[in-house]
Amino acid sequence: MKLRYIGATAALIAGGVLVAQAQQPAQAPATAAAPPPTATTKVTDNVYIFRYVGHQSMFIVTPAGVIATDPISERRPAKPYIDAIQAVTKAPIKYVIYSHSHFDHIAGGQPFKDLGATFVAHRNAKERIQALKPADVVVPDQIVDDKKVITLGGTALELNYVGKNHSNSTLVMRLPKEKIIFTVDWIPIQGVQFRIMDDTYIPDIEDGLKKVIAMDWETLIPGHPGPGGKQTGTKDNARDELAYLQDLSAAVKQEVAQGKSYDDAVKDISLPKYSAWPNYKNFLPMNIERYYDFWNRGI
Ligand SMILES: [Zn+2]
Repeated sequence: MKLRYIGATAALIAGGVLVAQAQQPAQAPATAAAPPPTATTKVTDNVYIFRYVGHQSMFIVTPAGVIATDPISERRPAKPYIDAIQAVTKAPIKYVIYSHSHFDHIAGGQPFKDLGATFVAHRNAKERIQALKPADVVVPDQIVDDKKVITLGGTALELNYVGKNHSNSTLVMRLPKEKIIFTVDWIPIQGVQFRIMDDTYIPDIEDGLKKVIAMDWETLIPGHPGPGGKQTGTKDNARDELAYLQDLSAAVKQEVAQGKSYDDAVKDISLPKYSAWPNYKNFLPMNIERYYDFWNRGI
């Protein structure tokens, strides 16, 4: 599917960025210009991606209003996201759907709430938010258990729960007509899992991947762009991620069976099929530790 990049908003330079620039030696070689901090990309006639530095969200435009997803505005203003939507349509923002409970994706939604949006999330996300009470996360108004369909202005958006994976509250948002899914942090475009796979449930994540692969869709929108800033993927990315986890699991299982230590497992295991993925070198050792715990201690 061909994407149309429709614009970027002005830079919001954080203090940290300015300091980093000031500390850069004067003789440093010139590097390619960084992409603008925010951008809107049109995926289909009614579906858009808003990217905010390293995070991205989907929003859906209908004649009756907008369905937005994750505010992605932790410790930064939500205004660029709202401005990006309003640059496309003046229709009201009716919904904000949380992808899962993690604050880096769902913080900063109050300005959407002030505009009258209804917030929707999985039951477990609402429970976690109510337990932890983060100051900058809007508590969901509506919850999803296994499935809910939001219908607005002729568009249907399915909110599917396929079990525990990268959290116990991850939704797979599917647009049946457009054959698009938006799901966050567990099906990257060519990526190993993040660091130590915190909050990730093994082996449930593999079962969930199989369920997602069995669904009818063609385009994946993940919560972070992939290599080279690529914003959408395909079912092959889901198949590759499942293969990566299965290969990793089998390799670690063998190390544990042979009585090897954490350090041995990290030293012994390489998965060359995935070595070109950008975060392979940094995160593979931590992914190995996560699977080591599963095979060695059942956790
Ligand atoms: Zn997450």
